[in-house]
Amino acid sequence: MKQQGSPVMEYRPGMERLPGDAMEALLGAVAAFEPLRYTLADVRRALAQPGKTAEDFAALLSPAAEGLLEEMAQVAKTETRRWFGNAVSLFTPLYIANYCENHCTYCGFGRQNKILRGKLSLEEIRREAEAIAQTGLRELLLLTGESRAASHVEYIGQAISLLREYFGVIGIEIYPLNSDEYAYLHRCGADYVSVYQESYDPVLYGQVHPAGPKRCFPYRFHAQERALRGGMRGVAFGALLGLGDFRRDAFAAGLHARRVQKQYPHAELSFSFPRLRPFGERQQNAGQVTEARLLQVMLAYRLFLPFAGQTVSTRERAGFRDHAVGLTATKISAGVRVGVGGHSAAEKGDPQFRLADERSVAEVRAALERSGLQAVLQDYV
Ligand code: SF4
Repeated sequence: MKQQGSPVMEYRPGMERLPGDAMEALLGAVAAFEPLRYTLADVRRALAQPGKTAEDFAALLSPAAEGLLEEMAQVAKTETRRWFGNAVSLFTPLYIANYCENHCTYCGFGRQNKILRGKLSLEEIRREAEAIAQTGLRELLLLTGESRAASHVEYIGQAISLLREYFGVIGIEIYPLNSDEYAYLHRCGADYVSVYQESYDPVLYGQVHPAGPKRCFPYRFHAQERALRGGMRGVAFGALLGLGDFRRDAFAAGLHARRVQKQYPHAELSFSFPRLRPFGERQQNAGQVTEARLLQVMLAYRLFLPFAGQTVSTRERAGFRDHAVGLTATKISAGVRVGVGGHSAAEKGDPQFRLADERSVAEVRAALERSGLQAVLQDYV
């Protein structure tokens, strides 16, 4: 494994490269984004445009747009209902391992941290699946931490095949793979892939990823494309908001998704909006993304890419999550555990973050119904 200091744009042996210079063009557009340049009039103009350009998206993400949040929310709600009706998908994450080879300065799972590490056996995964399926859920997001050595591709494939007996839709949030490996996991039963770039600023990216395979910026950037080439139905994008300039990173993730959508029009796109939680060296930025700003980002995405799904995490409190699904979010997790396992027996490894919403599946379903929304347990057959 390469150690601290290797160039962030350098591929490691075995990492697949895709042709083209799309990443460089996108990073150029992101560098040119000047959030303070936009006025209230620019935001009003952007809101009135029927199809939003990148320039409109930039205005909607700017500080000036904070003064028009209510207007943005009304238009976003209309768009959400137009594309998704009253449907909100329900799922839960299942961590089957928490080993990680990366040193991410902002994450408790980083290899530098002495935490309880664990990995579920296939029999333990089956017991977890049975317990989760009893709650009525039919969609699962499988997570492993990012260790190819501890959670090898075949182990993940076996887990997916087993989980497929219980769930109709399976997403994966694991280390980035080559397209042939994504194709294998798709054959095992995986439907969609989530990979978050964390930050689209290559300098900051290098600082917060001093070691491990994740240090290679372009390999992570092209993960969604490799997943789609491997046959996956959908891909999810996101930046860790608060790690760097959250407006710039949000802008970049939106442009990233739009570029992939243009190249792979059949792909189902979605976004997640994790906010940085105070941890280690990066905690100084953790407070900059207030709930109002997080909502602004979500609304801007709804207006820019109205057909894209949006997931709201249990990093957020219940009141915020319920408000977000009423306006723009289309998917919500419930009955969540973020340690290894934890649905059928005690967790085998430490959790990745502290939950802000510990509601059960029944409680989240009831909250959706009180808001006139329909809980969808499986959105694809
Ligand atoms: S953010 Fe992901 S890759 Fe980084 S330490 Fe945490 S689990 Fe590992």
